[in-house]
Amino acid sequence: MAIVRVALPVAAHQLFDYWLPAGLSVDAGSVLVVRLGTRRLHGVAVDVAERSDVSPERLMPVEEVLSYLPPVPSDLRALASFVSTYYQEPIGLCLAQMIPPLTQGSRSRASLAPAYRLTLAGRAALLSDEPKKETLLSRAIVLLSAAEGVATDDLRGQGPTVLRAFGKWRREGWVEAVVDSFDGATVPALNPDQRAALDAAIAEPFAFRPSLLQGVTGSGKTEVYLAAAARVIDAGRQALLLVPEINLTPQLEQRIASALPAIRVAALHSRLGAGERRARWLAAARGDIQLLVGTRLAVFAPLPRLGLIVVDEEHDASFKQQEGVRYHARDVAVLRAQLREVPVILGSATPSLESYAQAKRGRYRRLVLPKRATAHSRLPAVRLIPARDPGHIEGMTPALRHAIAARLAKNEQALVFINRRGFAPSLLCAACGWKAMCPRCSARLVVHRDEASLRCHHCGHTAALPAACPDCGNQDLLPMGFGTQRLERALVELFPGARVLRVDRDSTRRKGSFAVMRDAIEAGEVDILVGTQMLAKGHDFPRLTLVGVLGADNALYSAEFRATERLFALLEQVAGRAGRGVVAGEVLVQTDFPDHPLYKALIGHDYDRYAEALLGERQSLGLPPFAHLALLVAESKARGPMMSFLDAAVERGRAIIAAHGCRCELYPPVPAGLARRAGMERGQVLAQSEDRRALQAFLPLWRAGLEQLGERRVRWSIDVDPLSFA
Ligand code: ADP
Ligand code: ZN
Ligand code: ZN
Repeated sequence: MAIVRVALPVAAHQLFDYWLPAGLSVDAGSVLVVRLGTRRLHGVAVDVAERSDVSPERLMPVEEVLSYLPPVPSDLRALASFVSTYYQEPIGLCLAQMIPPLTQGSRSRASLAPAYRLTLAGRAALLSDEPKKETLLSRAIVLLSAAEGVATDDLRGQGPTVLRAFGKWRREGWVEAVVDSFDGATVPALNPDQRAALDAAIAEPFAFRPSLLQGVTGSGKTEVYLAAAARVIDAGRQALLLVPEINLTPQLEQRIASALPAIRVAALHSRLGAGERRARWLAAARGDIQLLVGTRLAVFAPLPRLGLIVVDEEHDASFKQQEGVRYHARDVAVLRAQLREVPVILGSATPSLESYAQAKRGRYRRLVLPKRATAHSRLPAVRLIPARDPGHIEGMTPALRHAIAARLAKNEQALVFINRRGFAPSLLCAACGWKAMCPRCSARLVVHRDEASLRCHHCGHTAALPAACPDCGNQDLLPMGFGTQRLERALVELFPGARVLRVDRDSTRRKGSFAVMRDAIEAGEVDILVGTQMLAKGHDFPRLTLVGVLGADNALYSAEFRATERLFALLEQVAGRAGRGVVAGEVLVQTDFPDHPLYKALIGHDYDRYAEALLGERQSLGLPPFAHLALLVAESKARGPMMSFLDAAVERGRAIIAAHGCRCELYPPVPAGLARRAGMERGQVLAQSEDRRALQAFLPLWRAGLEQLGERRVRWSIDVDPLSFA
């Protein structure tokens, strides 16, 4: 009897055996359906064996082999196995990342599928004056003759004959992608810096060649990515471009469509419906897609002819998955490139210190784009403004208000940036000192004026805004601090003639509303923008010339050791929004610490200087990238079991370290940054080593030891290379 060893998407670190009924056949990587307990699960066949250790009467049959899905290819199985070992995650959960969603799902609108229309040559060749019998082909031609063109997906719906003809028309140059006429429409020739970067990053024959492309905002990194993609696609290969979720903008789509009009592009991200994701996954697996653009999950897409991986904004924390399988897509991308022996480009204006250090050590080629690409565009001037100006109104200093007024007078746009949504981050009773706290978290409730509510930004708890203090009855409750809603209201009062638009997660909650806002901003229907980091990334607003930054100092008080690295990246990115058009831009940062090295470096847009200073600190403190970390995170309803679990975990771990001579250290248990969340008490233990391999050798032993503790009241997980300690 043939036995199939199956990886299932469950928390257990093991494979499960099933027998294969006659008539079914499986290969390594086949996706199949089996029963586990009462559940039917999709699994991946890892191995076929002659016999099983499970007694025959307990063995269950494979119920179905999904023949419409190609087996998970061997390179992805190897990648899954690496991810499983490196991140201490069960192989079944890792392999589950590599198959598309299999539940029935609706089709959603295909983004990144550009519309096509007839070119002049196409009109001459295909449009005849004589009325023809209406066939599918003639209908497609009529659709293509419209000025706005027809979406590729609509053509696809017309069936294979039309698709085949469409392919031919494209090769003949009879159809072209419809591209909006704004600045993306013409593709600039690469300047010497870009060309040098491209030639250094991509050379035939393709081989594993990691590059760090460090280019200031607006230096034309995207142009380099697309030229690199074009090169490998010309050589018959596929390219993968990973971007942070928030950067998957229509602007990027249009730039791709205009730079690479003839190639087959698709986007892959979590907002797509299951059916659409599956369709694109299949197209990628068939090799039909030449450029796949996607968020972190796309790093696991099947690409049989992979020739290049690009990670844009490689420093962005959204590449790290924070729940489920805790992988870092940038690091997985580098590994995948190595397994497939293809080049990989990591791009950023402010590289992560990890990548920066790799470049310094010579492991990554360092490619630099030192200036903005367009002739007239300069990096904006950064000025520091004392935040504690007594003349401030709702946190905005006179200097900032005057600067805004000056820009408005010139019909330019201003952005007021604060990385806090809501009206005010806390509510205080002036009489007795009561503070509005979340009943389920160790966190303050945020005042939201729009809905007159108090909200917890950690667990979603919502309460009505109280009219009086629940402790003493005092009616004088003070909202403390500032959020986007508060600034929005103040700006409306301060600049009565100006059109103010707030852009944050609350104001864009409705699907599509962000797109509407972006159009309004581009069309010049907005004078002052107030927003969070949603506005900091990936957008190009040519009339935006002033950026005011409030509340940046908050990050300087953070307990997280990466807080300043992140703040610099964020500020450089926000600053990068200013002056992308013809008019020079200006950035005003309100701060209490004008002498802080971070702000000094920001003024000069001198990331290298700041990165070197940070690396010095990290080295002396023994922190990444000079040390490697793993975080054991535990939570339970009561504090007692959680803490005793962590105590036991440290004891076990130290015994393992002593017995095996692991060069690792364990720190004593501490409460998590957020000690209680959604009613759960949370704590953590940090494991650290200067040697990645030593840590990697220790972790599986430790994990097995923790499983043996069998503490059912505690939920725990290990986060390798943790980015957050909250
Ligand atoms: P980055 O990705 O580094 O922030 P972009 O690729 O978005 O920069 O480029 C910024 C702007 O410069 C875009 O409007 C782009 O069209 C333009 N640009 C890029 N390369 C060139 C070039 N070689 N010549 C002229 N303009 C360019
Ligand atoms: Zn009170
Ligand atoms: Zn809460």
